[in-house]
Amino acid sequence: MKIDPIEVETDVLVIGAGAAGMYAAVEAARRGARVFLIDRSLIGRGGATVMAQMTVAAALGSEVPDHWRHHLDDTLTAGRGLCGEPLSRLLCEEAPECILEMEQWGVGWARKDGHFVQAMAPGHDRPRCVYVDFLNTGPAVSKTLRTVVNRTGGITKAGDLCVIDLVRAGGAGAAVAGAVALHLGSGGPVVISAKATVVATGGLTRLYGRNSASGNMGGDGYALALRAGARLIDMEFVQFFPIGHLAPRLVGMDPIMWDPFRYKLGGRLLNNAGEEFAHRYGTAEDGRYVLTRDVATFAILKEVEAGRGSPHGGVYLSFEHCSQAALRAAFGPVIDRLAANGIDLTRMPVEVAPIAHYHMGGVKADAGMGTEVVGLFVAGEAVGGANGANRLSGNAITEALVFGRRAGASAADHARQMRAPPLARRNARAALDLLAADRPDRDLNTAELIDRLQRTMADDVGPLRSGARLARALATIDDLTRALGDTPVGDGRAFDLQRLGWFDLRNMLLVARVVATTALSRTESRGAHRREDHPDARAEWGVNQIVGLPGGHIEVSRARSAAEMAAS
Ligand SMILES: Cc1cc2nc3c(=O)[nH]c(=O)nc-3n(C[C@H](O)[C@H](O)[C@H](O)COP(=O)(O)OP(=O)(O)OC[C@H]3O[C@@H](n4cnc5c(N)ncnc54)[C@H](O)[C@@H]3O)c2cc1C
Repeated sequence: MKIDPIEVETDVLVIGAGAAGMYAAVEAARRGARVFLIDRSLIGRGGATVMAQMTVAAALGSEVPDHWRHHLDDTLTAGRGLCGEPLSRLLCEEAPECILEMEQWGVGWARKDGHFVQAMAPGHDRPRCVYVDFLNTGPAVSKTLRTVVNRTGGITKAGDLCVIDLVRAGGAGAAVAGAVALHLGSGGPVVISAKATVVATGGLTRLYGRNSASGNMGGDGYALALRAGARLIDMEFVQFFPIGHLAPRLVGMDPIMWDPFRYKLGGRLLNNAGEEFAHRYGTAEDGRYVLTRDVATFAILKEVEAGRGSPHGGVYLSFEHCSQAALRAAFGPVIDRLAANGIDLTRMPVEVAPIAHYHMGGVKADAGMGTEVVGLFVAGEAVGGANGANRLSGNAITEALVFGRRAGASAADHARQMRAPPLARRNARAALDLLAADRPDRDLNTAELIDRLQRTMADDVGPLRSGARLARALATIDDLTRALGDTPVGDGRAFDLQRLGWFDLRNMLLVARVVATTALSRTESRGAHRREDHPDARAEWGVNQIVGLPGGHIEVSRARSAAEMAAS
């Protein structure tokens, strides 16, 4: 169905309204830019930010003395030699400022005796993570930023706008000059001309069936940036959250809620013989919470593989040593919600297993959040490289705030140097043609194809990988790509989910191919990337893999990591 495009013009276009996008919008607007902040969902309610529960890492030193350099040391250690150090440094150095600004804006970080409480989290050398009680960090961060966005002049917002492609002001090598979006409510196209564009679209966990995030996290931003000429980095490093809820059934609560429980109460990870097992994989826990996510994921999967798992295919997490009073003091109303689900933690363990949670990889950016394409900036989880092969708990919200603020500043500065947004309608032609396609006759069950992709990714590109499995995944991705074809299905009317599924799958397949390809070529195990056929880390793999899409074909190159360069 053909609908004439709506045309919008702005200084700074921000795509994605999680913490990164909202902070970017606020920062660009207070530097004088006209900002258009859009999201495929509702503003400030669509991505991972609103779902986050507890930790936000920053070297505030309110519990014990701290310095951002200590935070940086821990971040680099967790990244197993692959962190892009300028990005990691920016994250750690500017974290305290952003956390304090959020407090001024009214987020309400938990306090004790007048100072911020800072929780100890695995991989940090001291208590460093602020939070909002009870399990309310993400909602509070989102609400605070939504309020600031609403009261900051110069920001126009629009939800239900799904960007399907960035648009360049000419051929290969030209600047990004805006985007074309599908308005979900009408099925019509929207052409946005922008002097600067910020991609803040979050991660890719929807590629996996069992994941912790929302349905909007299919890796759109990675695909958009790649097709527009930017390059991606560290794409093989998908973080699996080790203790995602598995059983008994839990309704209306978050599958990763056990992490905050472990921060506050320790908890014990047990196999089906009731034994703690972490020591078999190099780290003894003794009731403390010290296992980093990559090690814990590996340990749990290996226990299950050895036949020592729980009935639903995970392991047990027990808080049976905690009294009802201790549980209530730590989690108040959450204990009632657990009771409504039939869970009494003083009497029973729960079953947990790894779940796709976060992506360390993303768009390659400099410390100003600029990409290799003029006019294109990135922020938040869409950025790759700051966390290397494994992310520390608490660094993701921090990265969204810090990188969002920096991207907004850089985008506003870039926009100020330009006279007019360069997007001519003809540059948007290819994307507009895709949106105008009218193929109600083509029978394609996009939901079924997405399900197949998710199963393939979980089985063959999950936490435990091998050359044979990755090759099998790539063959399935080939099949699915052929089935998808070049023309969107559906009739393009209002809320045409079949059509939206086509556009989602187009991005998901490209991103899945990049993850599987880079995982296949990295013939070692490091951080979140575990190869059963190459179980050890290898010195020659102290390099980052960088992916471009010249001529529509994936091209992988290697860059020496900062750590390797420092050693030579
Ligand atoms: C359940 C859960 C708990 C977590 N807990 C913690 C924690 O305690 N501490 C921590 O540090 N981190 C945590 N994380 C990770 C952290 O929340 C995220 O990494 C971070 O919030 C990402 O912020 P963001 O702004 O980059 O992206 P998001 O908040 O994910 O926002 C991205 C936005 O982009 C929009 N979007 C996507 N594609 C398009 C498109 N094509 N067009 C338009 N809009 C688009 C989405 O709708 C979404 O609103 C958690 C994540 C989850 C899922």
